[in-house]
Amino acid sequence: MMKASTTKTPSRLSIIKDHLIHLNSNSLSKFEFLSPDNYGLEPILSVHSKDYVEYLQTAYQEWVKDGGNEDGVLPEAFPHRNLSSVKLQNIKITSSVAKAGLYCFDMSCCITEIYESAQVVISATMELKRIVEESTSDESNLVPSVFALCRPPGHHANSNLCAGYCFLNNVAISAQLLVKANKKVVILDIDYHHGNGTQDIFYSNSNPLYISLHGSPDYPWFTGDESEKGEGEGEGFNINIPLPKTTVDDEYLKILKRVIDENIRSFNADYLIVSLGVDTYKEDPIAGLQITSGGYERVGELIKSIKLPTLFVMEGGYHLETIGINVGNILLGFT
Ligand SMILES: [Zn+2]
Repeated sequence: MMKASTTKTPSRLSIIKDHLIHLNSNSLSKFEFLSPDNYGLEPILSVHSKDYVEYLQTAYQEWVKDGGNEDGVLPEAFPHRNLSSVKLQNIKITSSVAKAGLYCFDMSCCITEIYESAQVVISATMELKRIVEESTSDESNLVPSVFALCRPPGHHANSNLCAGYCFLNNVAISAQLLVKANKKVVILDIDYHHGNGTQDIFYSNSNPLYISLHGSPDYPWFTGDESEKGEGEGEGFNINIPLPKTTVDDEYLKILKRVIDENIRSFNADYLIVSLGVDTYKEDPIAGLQITSGGYERVGELIKSIKLPTLFVMEGGYHLETIGINVGNILLGFT
């Protein structure tokens, strides 16, 4: 849909996929690979505002037409709350440069292949739902799972704002599909960064329950505090667990187990969606707690113990030498 221009290397995806194929060839796993279908814009528009989606559809072409650099759309200025004399709703914004500032809250977002990434998560959600609906009682001890290998990630994007390499919130689109089908959903966000976009989209909702374990203080800086618990009907359904960068495997797993026992089980969800980032890895170049490759296998085992149909959705992870192994280990631990 849009010309690719990315700040993060696309080889992340092929490294992960190649590693999963390698695990299959060594009989360590039996991953089945599926291509996405096209479900159109409707599921996307149930999370994102129409004007924002229209902006994403046309931003690159408008930007280039207006003389912008072909490498990608980048904002020049942002509307700021201290611009107190400006009433944004009264201004008609037509410039492609101004729009870039209006719909982004940082400088990380160049427009890339976002529509396809959303179709991957929608297709994965439909596949998981199909498996659950078609499973028989003999298979009740199996925990169905699907992994949506999305790029770009999504958890920093809210309904009308892109940031942190995220444009469409893949996890939120998936959750919304399931909620609309009258299912209860838990979103467990284990990416290193706080999923401010996912939190924001569901902040006033009691379904899904959103739980984030993330490094702090760090990007996106202004969100992710424990005091952000949701509001109105959503109060108590937003749980933030900020962690110091020194957090090692055992400490991380203990906290994750506590969250599962105290918050996830009692919610009685039908589905679990995992915002899967492996930028908690100890050598991640842009983030990183102290999680090891072996630790990820234990994380996968612990997530399996929740015993819910699970959709893993790829978010961050930037240490290319281990990204395949670390993602693979979570999935191996789960299976
Ligand atoms: Zn991240």
